[in-house]
Amino acid sequence: GPVPEDRAIDAAVDSAYRRARDRHDGAVADYIPVLAGADPDAFGLCVADVDGGLHEAGQTRVPFSIQSISKAFAYALLCEAVGHHEVRELVGVNSTGLAFNSVIAIEMNDGHPMNPMVNAGAIATTALLPGGSPDGQWRFLHEGLSRFAGHELILDDEVYRSESGTNQRNQAIAALLHSYGRMRTDPAEAVDVYTRQCSLRVDARDLAVMGATLADGGVNPLTGDQVVSADVCRDTLAVMAASGLYQTSGEWLFEIGLPGKSGVAGGLVTVAPGKVGIGAYAPRLDAAGNSVRGQVATAYLARSLGLNIFASA
Ligand code: GLU
Repeated sequence: GPVPEDRAIDAAVDSAYRRARDRHDGAVADYIPVLAGADPDAFGLCVADVDGGLHEAGQTRVPFSIQSISKAFAYALLCEAVGHHEVRELVGVNSTGLAFNSVIAIEMNDGHPMNPMVNAGAIATTALLPGGSPDGQWRFLHEGLSRFAGHELILDDEVYRSESGTNQRNQAIAALLHSYGRMRTDPAEAVDVYTRQCSLRVDARDLAVMGATLADGGVNPLTGDQVVSADVCRDTLAVMAASGLYQTSGEWLFEIGLPGKSGVAGGLVTVAPGKVGIGAYAPRLDAAGNSVRGQVATAYLARSLGLNIFASA
């Protein structure tokens, strides 16, 4: 179908925001110490359409760390740089059915990282990025994610330090991949670049624009910048649809019918190809680690704007 009209999007965003605001269940993540300090009631919702329109409700300019949502965009940048086939073989595209930071998933699959939305696959993705050194890879990532957002994103130093002090499990995952000969760079350095990547600050509006860039064949609808190719968007959205919402990815796809990616800080990006990107921020998470209000608001938007990609009409 066509891109929904501006007025229809504005009305839907408003209703979605008001419905989701009534939800007070879920809990703010605390396994990365600094995240526990987030305002549990913070809530922002933004739809960015492929024509460059922004439709916002609530706290769309409150910054938070991008966390796992960065995985989708790092993957897109790697596919753009290295190519579809190479990345598919090295990182994979299949769901693990296990936690995002599972070591068992690696062991069960002969050391294969499985897919780029779990930590093993995300760290392997980061290790494959061009740049020639950890700092070069970081510059590549920082520039690429900023182009998706349409402005320079800032590293949240407090989050980076908090997570660097507590990311022993990610270090173990990288070391395990290394033991299987599956790391292209030093595992500790790859985890450090990955940790910086997760510590980039975004807001709900940024997520909407980043999602809209994936919806728009890789062209940022605000800046006109072609960040990645349309083929890379297609591949990235397929991976997000299969594994973007942790262990409840199947339920999400069944209910909402759109590719999405969540992060533990409470961010959620959703993409309606050819139409819109949806960015949500609300730090209370359900048991799987997905933003409660973000999911409720996105489900409402998908229904009221007819965005489910599996619907015939
Ligand atoms: N940086 C976090 C980690 O690796 C990201 C987790 C997430 O958002 O799921 O543990």
